[in-house]
Amino acid sequence: MYSRTQNENGTYNSRCLDCLLTIASYVETEKELDVREAHHMCPEKALAQLMALDRAAGATKPLRD
Ligand SMILES: [Zn+2]
Repeated sequence: MYSRTQNENGTYNSRCLDCLLTIASYVETEKELDVREAHHMCPEKALAQLMALDRAAGATKPLRD
C-alpha cells in the first residue's frame, strides 16, 4: 500500500497508494521509511473507517430516530 522509490543519491521516498500523499522524501534508511509509514494517518482510510462505522450504526439503529 506504499510505493517506495530510491533517489539517485541513495535516499528513499515513500508515497501512500491510498491517498497518494508523499509521506517520506529523502530519508536515509528503509527503517526510517518503516517509521514514517507506520505513523501515516491516512485520510482515505480514516474516511473508509468512518463510513464503515456509519453503516454499522445504521444497521443497529432504527431508521426513524
Ligand atoms: Zn494515505
